[in-house]
Amino acid sequence: MIIKEGVKKMFQVENIRKDFPILLRKVNGKPLIYFDNAATSQTPKQVIDVIVDYYTNYNANIHRGVHTLSQEATDKYEEARHKIQKHFNAKKAPEIIFTSGTTHSINIISSGFEALLNEGDEVIVSALEHHSNIVPWQMLCEKTGAILKVIPMNQLGELEINEYDKLLSKKTKLVFVNHISNALGTINPIKNIIDKAHKVGAAVLIDGAQACPHIKPDVQELDVDFYVASAHKICGPTGVGMLYGKEEWLNKLPPYQGGGEMIATVSFEKTTYADLPHKFEAGTPNICGGIAFGKAIDYMNAIGFEAIMSYENELLRYGTSQLLEIEGLTIYGQSKNKASVISFNLDGIHPYDVGTLLDKMGIAVRTGHHCAQPVMDYYKIPGTIRASFSFYNTKEEIDILVKGVKKAKLMLS
Ligand SMILES: *Cc1c(COP(=O)(O)O)cnc(C)c1O
Repeated sequence: MIIKEGVKKMFQVENIRKDFPILLRKVNGKPLIYFDNAATSQTPKQVIDVIVDYYTNYNANIHRGVHTLSQEATDKYEEARHKIQKHFNAKKAPEIIFTSGTTHSINIISSGFEALLNEGDEVIVSALEHHSNIVPWQMLCEKTGAILKVIPMNQLGELEINEYDKLLSKKTKLVFVNHISNALGTINPIKNIIDKAHKVGAAVLIDGAQACPHIKPDVQELDVDFYVASAHKICGPTGVGMLYGKEEWLNKLPPYQGGGEMIATVSFEKTTYADLPHKFEAGTPNICGGIAFGKAIDYMNAIGFEAIMSYENELLRYGTSQLLEIEGLTIYGQSKNKASVISFNLDGIHPYDVGTLLDKMGIAVRTGHHCAQPVMDYYKIPGTIRASFSFYNTKEEIDILVKGVKKAKLMLS
C-alpha cells in the first residue's frame, strides 16, 4: 500500500500533460480531447527533441561509415536497441530486430515460416485479432497448405480457452494471439496460451502492439518465441517498431528481404547472410525513428508502468460507469481483464455519425471496425465508437466526452 500511495503522489497528470505540446491545440475551436490512443499515441517533447537533435546534429547512415557522424548515429541506434532489449528483458540485444512496425514484424515471421510448414500442419489464431495478425497467416496457409484454426470469443470479449485446448495437437506448429485486443481492450491470458502451445511443441507469436502502451512485458518470463510492437503506440514516432525473437528461432528462419546491410559476403556464385540482428535489417533503416523509439521507452519508464496502468484503470472505471448511464448505450468487451479502451454504440445510430459530431466538439475518437472485422461480425455490428484513454487523459475530458455523446444522441435520434 505504501508503494501505491507513493505512486499516486508521483503521478501528476497536469505535469505530464505539459510534456505533450499537441494537447494545447484547438480542433474546431474547442480544446483537443484526444481519445484515439489505441490507433496512435501522442508524442512528448522529450521524444520530439531527440528527432530534432538527430536531423540537426548527426544525421548520417549507420554501420558502414568511418566518419564521426556515422559513428555517432550508429552508437545512438545501437544504444536504442539495448534500451529496447532491457525494456522487454530479452537475453541478448541481437534478438531485437528493428522493423517498420508491428505489421512488418509479423510479416517477417509469417514469410519465414513458409520454409518450415508443410501441407496439413496447423496454425492457430484468435477471433480477437487485428487484421495484421490474420491476413499474413492466411497468405502463409495459401502458400503452404497449412490449416488456419480460430480460438473463438465470448460475449464478454474474452477468448474461450477451453476451445483453445481442443484445437491444440501435435499438428499445431504456430499460435499467434494479441496481448491486448485493440478493438475491445481485452487482456488475453497469454502466459497460459504460450505454456499450452509449448506443451505440443508449437511456437508462439504475441502481437503486443496494444499492450506495450500499458504493460511492460518480460519476454523471458513469458517464454514467448516472438513478441512484436510499434513505437507509435508507445509515445514514439510512426514507421518504426520491433520484433523480438528467441535467438534459435531467428537463426532458423530465412531472411525476409535481400539487400545491403543484411549480408556477410556477396558474390554471383554465393552470398552469405549477416549475423543477427542484421540478417533481418536489409537496407537503410529508420535511424532517427529507432533512436526516438529508445527515448520513448525511457520516457514511459520514467513515469513507470505501474503508475500508468493504475491511473488508466481509474479512467477506464470512471468512463465505463459514466457512459453506461446513457440510455441505449452498449459497451462491447466487458472482460474483467481490460485495458483503457471503451468500444460502444448508441441504439439505432451509426457510429460514424457520432464520431463526426464528436469531432466538431474537438473530441477525437475512432469509429469503424478497428481493423478487427471478425470481432464486429461476432457482435453483428458494422463497427463501434472507440474511446481509448492514455495516461495523459483526465476525468474532466471524460466528462466532456459523456456530455458530447448525450448531445450527439439527441441530435441523431
Ligand atoms: C495497431 C495494431 C497493429 C498494427 O500496428 P501497425 O503499427 O499499424 O503495424 C497490430 N495489432 C494490434 C493489436 C494493433 O493494435
